[in-house]
Parts: sequence; structure tokens; C-alpha cells
Amino acid sequence: MSKAAKLSRPYRVENGRKFRLKDVDPGDTAGMKLDKSKAADALEKGVKLLADLQDKLYAQDKRALLLVFQAMDAAGKDGTIKHVMSGVNPQGCQVFSFKAPSAEELDHDFLWRTMKCLPERGRIGIFNRSYYEEVLVVRVHQEILRAQKLPPSLVTKKIWKERYEDISSFERYLSRNGVAIVKFFLHVSHAEQRKRFLERLERPEKNWKFSLADAQERKRWDDYMEAYEDAIRATATPYAPWYVVPADEKPFTRLVVASAVIDALEGMDLAYPKVDEAKKAELEKARQALEAE
Ligand code: ATP
Ligand code: MG
Repeated sequence: MSKAAKLSRPYRVENGRKFRLKDVDPGDTAGMKLDKSKAADALEKGVKLLADLQDKLYAQDKRALLLVFQAMDAAGKDGTIKHVMSGVNPQGCQVFSFKAPSAEELDHDFLWRTMKCLPERGRIGIFNRSYYEEVLVVRVHQEILRAQKLPPSLVTKKIWKERYEDISSFERYLSRNGVAIVKFFLHVSHAEQRKRFLERLERPEKNWKFSLADAQERKRWDDYMEAYEDAIRATATPYAPWYVVPADEKPFTRLVVASAVIDALEGMDLAYPKVDEAKKAELEKARQALEAE
């Protein structure tokens, strides 16, 4: 196992049956004392490695990597995506943020809008929220489910279990088509969220990040935690693992995420495409022509 992988493996869940959210401490830093400059150095190294791997992924043009980010508000999704992906070539990377579905999207099955956003071969796709909202916010607020235009006979007590099954089948389908999937739950504590909300209210440059809706969702904290735990238990698989990442210490969160992304890319056996004899002859001809100019 590479050094990079070692940092993230303790947070990896690929068999959900034994998973309990309470076993992950949001304040955990694996005993690392991360002062700002040390953390920045470590992350910079990780980002370089990640950029090299992404370059090969792009050149090989066969596989894709889908990174799914889920979290409560202020857990640090945006900042983590920004920092971890800071070194990668923007041409090889696609980010999509999923908000409440539009009228057009509600006229389709729940995975329809996801299909259009899947990463092309050779790319890294990032979902800032995702189809998992369908078993998170929709489960916590069942009025959203009622507005989903489903035939009433299909809306039963089994609907969450059915959605977990559909999501897992979808993820297996993607993995069988060369798309690796890695899912992150940035696990922030209730107390740390409060602190970050207060900061958003106090600092004018952070005001725009605060919305009243966030404070409303905070009231449903326990329901969300239950929904997250159930979703992770039901959908953590070897082909689409979850990483439950401690999120109270941002530098640590970013290191763990970078390490998990590197681990996923290293598992793909990436290499630059080999140049065959015909191509070599072509390159030689081009060289001679240029030299003769
Ligand atoms: P930030 O607050 O950091 O800008 P965000 O991801 O919270 O990022 P918002 O625009 O605040 O973005 O929120 C998007 C909202 O859309 C979330 O409350 C989320 O639960 C909701 N949402 C996403 N997907 C669905 C869905 N399928 N059905 C209903 N609501 C959804
Ligand atoms: Mg928000």
C-alpha cells in the first residue's frame, strides 16, 4: 500500500454491514499535529502526485473517475474540492453541483439528470452533492417525495431500500463500464457546524455563504445522521466505497480526500499509451522534415 493510501484507508467503508457513524470521530486527525505550513506542504505533494496520475488517465482515455461529495452545510465540500483539485488540468476535470431538481428534471426518473453529467473517459468528474440527495434530504423531508410525481402505488415504506438498490446497481453498471466511483461523506460535528455558521454571520466576506435554510436543516441534524448512516450502510461496496472523513479539522480532511483520490487512481494501472511501430515511423518522418527546413 502506498504512503498516500495509508492515510485514507482507515476511513474507507466498502462493506456497510458493520458501519456505524458514531465510530468515526469528526475531530479525528489520526494523531497528526497539523500546523498550517506542514499541512500545506503535505497537500502540495499530494496534489502534484494527483496531477501526474490525472495526466495519464487523460492520455489513456479509457477509464473515468467519479468523485461524489456529500455533507451537511459548512462541512467544507467546496473548499476541499478547490484545494484537492487545485493542481489538475481543468480540461480533464468536470464539476457539477446538484441543487433541488427543476420542473424538467422532476418529469424524469431520479437518475436522469445524473446521466448527463457523468465524466467522459479520461476525465475526473466531481459531484458536489449528487443522486444521494434522493435518500437524504428527500427522506428527511418527505414533502419533497410527495412532490416527485411518482405513481402513488410506488411510494411505499420500501422506497428507501429500493432506492439504495437502484443506486448500487447503477454504480455497479458504471464500474463495469470503466468508471471508478469514490464517495465522500465529510463528517463534521454539530458543534463545529455551529461555530462555522457563526463565523459566516460575523465575517462580512462570509455572509453570502449563509442561508436561513441551512439553519433550518440544522434542526433536523439527527434525522440527517440517521439517513447518512443508513445510506452508507446500504451502498458501501468494493466497487463504490464510501470514505467517511473527519471534517472538523479542514487541513486533515483535505489530506484524507487527496489520499483517497490518489489511491483510486493508483488502483487503475494507468500508463501513457505505447507508441506502435507505424506511429514511430510517422514521428521519425516528421522529425526529419522539421530538421530539413
Ligand atoms: P453551499 O451552501 O456551500 O453553496 P450547497 O450544496 O449547500 O452549497 P445550496 O444551493 O445551498 O448548495 O443547496 C442545494 C440544496 O439542494 C441542498 O439543500 C440540497 O439538499 C438540495 N438538493 C439537492 N439535490 C436534491 C434533490 N434531488 N431533491 C431535493 N433537494 C435537493
Ligand atoms: Mg447550502
